Amino acid sequence: MQSSTQSTAGRLPNRFDALKLCASGESLAGVVDAADLPRVADRLASDAGAARIAWRLVGGSDGQRRPVLTLTLAGSVPLVCQRCLQPFAASVDQTTELLLARSESELARLDADEVEVVLATERLDPLTLVEDELLLSLPFSPRHADGQCQPASSAVAGQESSQSRASPFGQLGELKKTTR
Ligand SMILES: [Zn+2]
Repeated sequence: MQSSTQSTAGRLPNRFDALKLCASGESLAGVVDAADLPRVADRLASDAGAARIAWRLVGGSDGQRRPVLTLTLAGSVPLVCQRCLQPFAASVDQTTELLLARSESELARLDADEVEVVLATERLDPLTLVEDELLLSLPFSPRHADGQCQPASSAVAGQESSQSRASPFGQLGELKKTTR
């Protein structure tokens, strides 16, 4: 007795059988704080607000009746603008189809095509898939939209031009010095 959509507030306790999900056409969904995903957390602006990402995995098949997971991500994450070095909320709105491979050899064969392939011989962790896709969706050089950059901070305008503007980690350095 399972509902077709298992919505959870936090982490799903279990890995799931992706091939089974595709065969049954069921889905999984949840919400994750991107800051809890270690490889993504490295790319986020620290202490710059919420990083909640709603995710959904829908099982199905493609035109060739191959098992496909459709992964949807929606939310926003705080990134550091590479132009003005201020944090901003970058929206995430991503839908990706992941073709499932049932064996290593199938994985090698499918990988030659221009599709994303996931080896599904073992049960998968939904948050690993979410983390992988989120990493791919983050811009290599994040920036505010044109005209949205913050002018050199009004609060510390005096020092801004000389020193701290050069590095987004200027304050971090100060912090480290004082705790040493
Ligand atoms: Zn900017």
